[in-house]
Amino acid sequence: FDEVEAAEKYAGGTWDGVRSLLGGKGANLAEMARIGVPVPPGFTVTTEACNAYLASGGKFPEGLWEQELEALKAIERNTGKVFGDAANPLLVSCRSGAKFSMPGMMDTVLNIGLNDETAKGMVELTGDERFVYDAYRRLVQMFGNVVMGVPDDLFEEVITDARMKEGVETDAELSAEAWKTVTREFQAICRRQKGYGFPRDPFEQLRLATEAVFKSWNGKRAVDYRNAAGISHDLGTAVSIVTMVFGNMGDDSATGVAMTRNGSTGERQIEGDYLTNAQGEDVVAGIRLTKDLSELEREMPVAYAEFEDVARKLEQHYREMQDVEFTIEKGKLWMLQTRDGKRTAQAAVRIAVDMAEENLISREDAVLRVTPEQVDFFLHPQFDRKAVAAARASGTFLGSGLNVSPGAACGVVALDADLAEKWSKEGKDVVMVRPETKPDDVHGMLAARGILTSRGGRTSHAALVARQFGKPAVVGVSELQIDMNRRQMRIKDEIVHEGDWISIDGTVGELFLGKLSTTVPDIRDPWLIKLLSWADEFRTLGVWTNADYPKDALRAREYGAEGIGLCRSEHMFFEAERLPYVLKMIMTDLPIERREALEAVLPFQREDFAGLFRAMDGLPVIIRLLDPPLHEFLPNHVDLRRALSDIKIRLQHADNLEKIDELLQQFKEKEQLLKRAESLHEANPMLGMRGVRLGILVPEITTMQVRAIFEAACIVAKEGVEVHPEVMIPLTAHVNELKVQRRRLEAEARQVMTQKGQSIDYKFGTMIELPRAALTADQIAEHAEFFSYGTNDLTQTTYGISRDDAEAGFLIDYIEEGILPDNPFATIDEDGVGQLMKIGIEKGRSVRPDLECGICGEHGGDPASIALCHKLGLTYVSCSPFRVPVARLAAAHAAI
Ligand code: ADP
Ligand code: MG
Ligand code: MG
Repeated sequence: FDEVEAAEKYAGGTWDGVRSLLGGKGANLAEMARIGVPVPPGFTVTTEACNAYLASGGKFPEGLWEQELEALKAIERNTGKVFGDAANPLLVSCRSGAKFSMPGMMDTVLNIGLNDETAKGMVELTGDERFVYDAYRRLVQMFGNVVMGVPDDLFEEVITDARMKEGVETDAELSAEAWKTVTREFQAICRRQKGYGFPRDPFEQLRLATEAVFKSWNGKRAVDYRNAAGISHDLGTAVSIVTMVFGNMGDDSATGVAMTRNGSTGERQIEGDYLTNAQGEDVVAGIRLTKDLSELEREMPVAYAEFEDVARKLEQHYREMQDVEFTIEKGKLWMLQTRDGKRTAQAAVRIAVDMAEENLISREDAVLRVTPEQVDFFLHPQFDRKAVAAARASGTFLGSGLNVSPGAACGVVALDADLAEKWSKEGKDVVMVRPETKPDDVHGMLAARGILTSRGGRTSHAALVARQFGKPAVVGVSELQIDMNRRQMRIKDEIVHEGDWISIDGTVGELFLGKLSTTVPDIRDPWLIKLLSWADEFRTLGVWTNADYPKDALRAREYGAEGIGLCRSEHMFFEAERLPYVLKMIMTDLPIERREALEAVLPFQREDFAGLFRAMDGLPVIIRLLDPPLHEFLPNHVDLRRALSDIKIRLQHADNLEKIDELLQQFKEKEQLLKRAESLHEANPMLGMRGVRLGILVPEITTMQVRAIFEAACIVAKEGVEVHPEVMIPLTAHVNELKVQRRRLEAEARQVMTQKGQSIDYKFGTMIELPRAALTADQIAEHAEFFSYGTNDLTQTTYGISRDDAEAGFLIDYIEEGILPDNPFATIDEDGVGQLMKIGIEKGRSVRPDLECGICGEHGGDPASIALCHKLGLTYVSCSPFRVPVARLAAAHAAI
């Protein structure tokens, strides 16, 4: 291991190159040796040799074996022991190790060099027959299994028999004699199984073991793992040959594993497990109850102190939390492996911040080390990993769908929104289960802990609302059948009744029967707060939020939002007390009645906006005027028809005039609703009478909204609140639409301000969500003080794909078959939609250099899309409150 410089030079001078050449294990063993950490002497056969071996169909490349023998000689000089020598035998391990850690996926053989003669020599040297034959049988067992391919249970049976014969419970209690017999029987098993015996020649053992490790690169386990982890199949494994050290040479010997910091919490404190008088694999295998590392401090204070020193040194050197394997042989410490330790999201944040404060790494590095997904973890409860494993084992896993909104939720099944709300008010935890959700299900979604649907895609209504409110959601579970008559759902063969407990995991998109335990990370985590404040120093992109209600705005602000990029004003139309007026407004043909209805809605809207302005004191608030087509506010045809036939039946059975009158009245009302719904019906509502088109043709509605905005602004400004309303006109395609609509609306705004005798700092702008708008952005910018990219619609209209249908349909095939690299509704399609955005920004700013450009589509919370927004020079991204911390970090990553 003392030639790491030579390896480095050969590998092109980079640490990455060294790892490619020597594998992570080999590179780190050499690196440890270089910085003076005690590592048993050894050497590493490179990945190049492995690749040459595999490419040639199983031949050692020329000179390899000679070089191995030469390197072995160097170990002999170093240790004073001789490989294969009966009097003073050298034993080695033959260990696999790829560039990227693939824990347990490939093979390792320990105690190579033992045979009947060297075993006798070892006994004489150590005076410990039991230890020697335990080591010997381990060699035969591992070699038999790994190299010769003998099934391991054949060996385990023999050990079980031996325990029974001696009447002991554990391997540790078996006598020397027993191990001797076991070793002999193991050898006999090898011969019987393979027709040739376990090789007595140590050199033969080493050669075959090296080959076996090479071959284990293409073992099924390893291939599957690489496919899952996205690791390239042509890297190859290195083979490290390491002098054996023994943790099983008595009570002053031990072996263990440790992490230099706590992998769950990130606390700066060494944590680990060890065993006295045992070999390395015993700790991992869990055959004996391990002891906490803190006890080692009492048992072997000197060795422990040295271990602590080494651990600290390794951390300082790698500037990362390390996960190490060590062995103490007769009081002497040896390090056998080190690598970067795995950790939870919480630990990742704390370790990054602590290390920056300890001056181990820079603040930039700390910010870069934490991933957006890790920040996301802080905002959603998660299932306990053990609980999930137990649920799988006990068969309560029900199925999976799209993971559209992360987090874990448990609750009783409620099959409609009203029941979900009712039960939640009674203090029950509820999971709302629907075929799909609609705007008038929102109260149920708000009341529920989580949402489950059988239909819908990533940008379905359920998905959008769930993300907006941070509700865990799984949608598009196609195997799920909901039976509203029996009030139950069926998945596979399982029937779940309304009121039964289920658990859904929105992070991975899975559902379980029953109630799994959860853990809730804390957003008030001081380390996270500090890390995000560092991120804010590095990022240049603003982070705003999509919020319709003051409480969401306040939450987003607490999470660091710098403005509201999208308030969907129509959400306010759906609330129960307002819906009658909204319906009246839609149903009437008389302008006077319409105006009356709107005047009734106005105070509600004014109060909504006032609340938002107060919450966002000092920050910009973009309000989008009514966008959806009007029929969305009416009950749907099918429901109406069903209601009508219902009334008809009841009419036939009605037995008094009063009742008949009442039913007739109801019938008339529903019939009118149905007529209106039918007259508003469009074949393609997404491309129909909505957005600015509706604003132009039914001007009373948007005019009322603008009045509400400016009256609210005047009221709160008087209270001393700093208001910056920005009025956003949706779905502009042609500049003339904007011109006409803005002229009318701005006149209304001026009128309010004149009436109140106040002046408000405001902007008028538009969404850019149609390709034509992006392509004519210079014309549009003449009349818009800001652009907001509605990338959901822009993606739909650029691709000509309906997101609700496609995401549950052919898009899945497209992505699986690699026709599309990503779901364009999850990550902005840079080449298409991204180009349109670029053109829009350039053209827009060519006529209005200070044009504020933002994005308010779902993409605003997606790290890859945020990186693109940074590159395109957007002013801000706007995302749901729960994505704000994630966006702050992602924007910093893009800027560093
Ligand atoms: P894995 O990658 O599966 O952990 P390793 O090559 O690290 O495989 O080895 C498996 C076990 O054997 C570990 O506990 C390791 O510490 C131990 N081990 C490997 N080589 C030696 C050695 N030369 N002396 C003592 N123990 C060893
Ligand atoms: Mg290991
Ligand atoms: Mg839109």
